[in-house]
Amino acid sequence: MAQAKLIDGKAFAADLRAKIAEEVAELKAKHGVTPGLAVVLVGEDPASQVYVRNKGEQTQAAGMYSETHRLAAETTQDELLAVVDKLNADPKIHGVLVQFPVPAHINQMDVVAALSPDKDVDGLTVTNAGRLASGLPALTPCTPLGCMMLLKDTLGDLSGKNAVVIGRSNLMGKPMAQMLLAADCTVTIAHSRSKDLPGIVRQADIVVAAVGRAEMVKADWVKPGATVIDVGITRYPARDPAAAAVGKTRLVGDVAFDEVSEVAGAITPVPGGVGPMTIACLLANTLTAAKRLAGIA
Ligand code: NAP
Repeated sequence: MAQAKLIDGKAFAADLRAKIAEEVAELKAKHGVTPGLAVVLVGEDPASQVYVRNKGEQTQAAGMYSETHRLAAETTQDELLAVVDKLNADPKIHGVLVQFPVPAHINQMDVVAALSPDKDVDGLTVTNAGRLASGLPALTPCTPLGCMMLLKDTLGDLSGKNAVVIGRSNLMGKPMAQMLLAADCTVTIAHSRSKDLPGIVRQADIVVAAVGRAEMVKADWVKPGATVIDVGITRYPARDPAAAAVGKTRLVGDVAFDEVSEVAGAITPVPGGVGPMTIACLLANTLTAAKRLAGIA
């Protein structure tokens, strides 16, 4: 059987980062504006530490100003909100991202509500979610934005396609569905209460899986030739016992990659598909926020 085209998010993200770096250099030279991103991490979640380090490194590599605020796990909500307020008011900073999850004693929605919508580079505030839903210019969540770029690059015009998004989180499923709708797809959102999920997914020309259940989407769920975007990440110990013994992990997506590759027209791998797009889109959003805040078209 034919093998699906591999959608290379790693290469796409590298190109995008290079284009962003060029634009940043131009913005500095022409307008004296250096886009600045502040990332706030509360606690010591190991995966979050890796994400935050990568974000800081890639922000600097793009020529932007980067600040990382590492706060102790016992930081109170008021202390965290005070840091957010300060960053909202800091003219060097154009994007503020609080790395989630935060410890259980902090209310995530309160943190999101404290972010200035103009600096909300994760697109999580009610203002940006509402603007996206209303078709107005918005800062939109980075991962679905990256998925849209990969889909448009793979398929061109998405108009009229049947798209099924599995997952309905504010960070991923809901904004993904809004973006597909804005691109004139016919959109279905499936979730844990959906009945006959395989039957729903079989209708799709485009499947976006954002659940967090390893290899849930099987080959017989997928319409031949469909484009499959795998957002899910589940961490397992590395296959090599020596590597696993020192805490090394491997990432598994929501899609049973080997079997689905035999049916789909195009598919993202995990890792190397959607993952690299998320940080590249964070940089893109920071650049957009910096231009808007500086009043540059
Ligand atoms: P989340 O908030 O936990 O949402 C998961 C969604 O999956 C929920 O809407 C849930 O439905 C749905 N779901 C759970 N079990 C299901 C089932 N058996 N059948 C159908 N739907 C089911 O997670 P998230 O933040 O959206 O992230 C989803 C996945 O993407 C995670 O693995 C995460 O690590 C990954 N992710 C990756 C990136 C990246 O950069 N690659 C970025 C963000 C997230 P209910 O609403 O009914 O509970």
